[in-house]
Amino acid sequence: MTSVRVVVVGAGVIGFSTAVCIAEALPSCSVTLLSEKFSPDTTSDGAAGIMFAGEFPDIPLERQRLWFKDSFDHLLAIAQSQHAPEAGVMLSSGWQIFKEVPADKLPFWSEFVIGFRQMTDRELRRFPDHTFGQAFTTIKCECESYLPWLENRFVPAGGQVHQRKVDNLQELSNSYDIIVNCSGLGSKLLVGDSQVYPVRGQVLKVEAPWLQHFIRDGDGKTYIYPGIHGATIGGTRQEGDWRLEVDEGDTKSILERCSRLEPSISKAKVLSEWVGLRPSRRNLRLEREVVQLQGRQVPVVHNYGHGGWGVTLAWGTALDAMSLVRQCLREKPAQAKL
Ligand code: FAD
Repeated sequence: MTSVRVVVVGAGVIGFSTAVCIAEALPSCSVTLLSEKFSPDTTSDGAAGIMFAGEFPDIPLERQRLWFKDSFDHLLAIAQSQHAPEAGVMLSSGWQIFKEVPADKLPFWSEFVIGFRQMTDRELRRFPDHTFGQAFTTIKCECESYLPWLENRFVPAGGQVHQRKVDNLQELSNSYDIIVNCSGLGSKLLVGDSQVYPVRGQVLKVEAPWLQHFIRDGDGKTYIYPGIHGATIGGTRQEGDWRLEVDEGDTKSILERCSRLEPSISKAKVLSEWVGLRPSRRNLRLEREVVQLQGRQVPVVHNYGHGGWGVTLAWGTALDAMSLVRQCLREKPAQAKL
């Protein structure tokens, strides 16, 4: 039996997670991953990788909860296995603190992280500018390790990987039966999506081995995330800003804000500075459509626009995308040479 040729575009955390899910769950498919850039040069590589999410306004919360839960279960199993150091996945405990009590004291993911609770007054005393806080244990997934680890899982499952920039989907229509688009911000040009836009984020890596807990300001702009190789401190959220250069003003502001939360940061050595563009969209796009390409009807599954929560939601959304590919297999046998 000839296999169904599936191509996944994109080698960030969304592309590799999706490619692995398809290759492992759908043995009738031969899966090829094409991408212009690979680790360590994707947005995913520089993300702090902390499991934490905001809400997409028009996507049913139940679906978002499932994405979070599936992703958490997947990464927790890795964190508690012998693969943890190689995959760059670890448990991480700490605090999210607020200057004012938030409207929603129980985020939708609070039941999936470990030991979610309100901070005590005693715990809050070290953060004099803040009046409310949440303590919990979540997961940190460092993509500089995780992406190569996923690739090492993809290839034995029969996956093929090639470096290539794709200018339009027509280029792929003769060589593949199903296209899976995980190109993040690249979707703006690749599929002409004007709804996807960058939210610039600058972070620093610092050497501060004495820090054991994460601290995140509830406004999402200032955070300290201790990791396997140094702590990631940040940050910025600059909508519509395409600059990839490090901004010295941002560096100064990050160091000042983080030192206010954790004074010992002023003693930490700065190891590196990095800028990434979050592939943002009002609602992430996870759906399938049939596109007319070179006279053929080709199923296309989209999985992009995860904004600041891509590492968090990668596995859950990848499983969903895999289910959409499975539906394509069932519904379009004749047309797509299936
Ligand atoms: P990317 O990693 O950008 O990958 C896109 C891929 O598509 C690349 O390989 C690219 O080369 C390829 N591509 C694009 N166009 C084409 C084309 N035309 N042809 C071929 N290939 C193409 N998320 C969290 O969950 N937790 C965090 O703590 C967190 N912290 C962050 C901190 C910062 C400073 C930033 C910037 C982001 C952070 N994020 C975090 C968000 C996270 O990084 C993104 O949501 C995630 O990386 C998106 O993954 P992706 O695979 O869609 O995109």
